[in-house]
Amino acid sequence: MARQQELLALFSDPRGTSRIDLARRLGRSPSKIGGLVRRLLQLGLVTEERPVETARGRRPILLRPASDLGFLLGVDIGLINLRAVVTDMRGEVLGSKETQSNARADLETASKSLLAATDSLLIESRVPREKLRAIGISHSGGIDPETGKCLYWHSARHWTGVPLRQMFGDRYGVPTRVDDSAHCMAFAEKVFGKGQDSSDFVFINVGQGIGAGLFLGGRLYKGTSGVAGELGHTIIKPDGPRCSCGNHGCLEALASGGSMMDTALAAVKDNVTTVLWETVDRGEPITVQTISRAARAGDRLARRILENAGLYLGLAIANLVNLLNPPLIVLGGGCMETAGDLLLDEIIRAASGAAFEAAYSRTRITTSELGPMAAARGAALMVTQPALESIWNQRLRSAKSTRAQLTA
Ligand SMILES: [Zn+2]
Repeated sequence: MARQQELLALFSDPRGTSRIDLARRLGRSPSKIGGLVRRLLQLGLVTEERPVETARGRRPILLRPASDLGFLLGVDIGLINLRAVVTDMRGEVLGSKETQSNARADLETASKSLLAATDSLLIESRVPREKLRAIGISHSGGIDPETGKCLYWHSARHWTGVPLRQMFGDRYGVPTRVDDSAHCMAFAEKVFGKGQDSSDFVFINVGQGIGAGLFLGGRLYKGTSGVAGELGHTIIKPDGPRCSCGNHGCLEALASGGSMMDTALAAVKDNVTTVLWETVDRGEPITVQTISRAARAGDRLARRILENAGLYLGLAIANLVNLLNPPLIVLGGGCMETAGDLLLDEIIRAASGAAFEAAYSRTRITTSELGPMAAARGAALMVTQPALESIWNQRLRSAKSTRAQLTA
C-alpha cells in the first residue's frame, strides 16, 4: 500500500514523470518500473507523451495523469473572498468562480453560501457529480491536515473546530483534504510557478494576513502540528500594535493588507492630509487598492504606509534568510498583486540591509505570477494523488471482477 501511494505520488505530478525518474526515485530496476507502467497504462490512469525533439537531443517519454479521469475541485476560503476552480487531473483550470466568502457571518450562513458557490461552479463548468473525484480546500486559518478541522482563525474565531473536511466530504462523497492557504499557494508555485526548478524555496503570502510555505528538499515542510510557516506571527516590533493573535508587533499587525487598511483609517480619523479622504467621502472602504492608487498619485500617507509594510516584510525576510539560507523567496497574495511594484524595492532594500551577507548573497527575491486563483489551484493539486488512488482501486476491482466472470 505504501508503495502504491509512493508510486501515485510521483504520477500525480501534472507536468509528467519519466520512467528513468521513477526508477531513480523509487529505487527500483528499470524492468520492474516498465511492468508497473504497463499496468497503469492498461488501467488508463496515465498516458504517454512524446516530447518534441530539441536541439539538446531527445528527451525521455513523459508519463502524465490521463486527462479524462474526471475532475478536481479546489476551494480557497479567505476572510473576504471565496475562490474556487474546477480542474482536470493535470491541473488544467476548466472553470472558476470568485465571490464573497461570508466568513465573518455565523457558521450556518457561511457554510451554506460556501456550498452553494461550489454547487453552482460545478453546474456552470458542466461537471456531473459522479465525475468529481476529490476536493482540496485552502483555508486562511490554522488547519490540522490530519483531521481537516480549523485549529484557529484569529480573524474569525468562531471557525475554531469547524470540521471542513467532513462538511465538504459529506456533501460530495469524495476524498477531501484541507490545508493552510499559504501551503496551497506554495504547492501551486512549485508545480506551475517560479518554484518549478527549486527544491528549496519559501513562498510568502501577503494578503489580508501573512503566511508562508517552506519547500525544503523538494517537499513542503509542514511541522509537527501541520502549521509550519506562520511568518505573520513572528514578532518584529515588541512595542508594536496588537495583533489579532493577541501578541504585540507581529509581522501581520505591521505589514498585512489588514494592517495597512487599519493604519490608513486611523490616519484619516486623525485628520492627516491625504487623498484617501475622497474615498471616505464617497462612502467607499479604504482597501490596499485605494492605498496603492493614492501612493502612485504621490500621496504621502499612502506612500509611508506601503514603505513601512515593505520595511517590516524585509526585516522578517532577513530573519528567514539568516535561518534557512534559501536560494529563492517568492512573494504572492492580494497585496503583492495590487501593490507588488510599490512594495518590492523596499522589501529588498530592508532584507539585504539586515540579513547576513553570506546568507543573503545568493538569495533571489521575486513575485509570483500565478494570480488570485493560486491557492485554489494548489488545493486542487493537493488532491490529485488521493483522486488517482481511488480511481486505481476502482479500476482494479472492476478488472478483477471481469476476470472472475471470464473464468467462471
Ligand atoms: Zn500575531
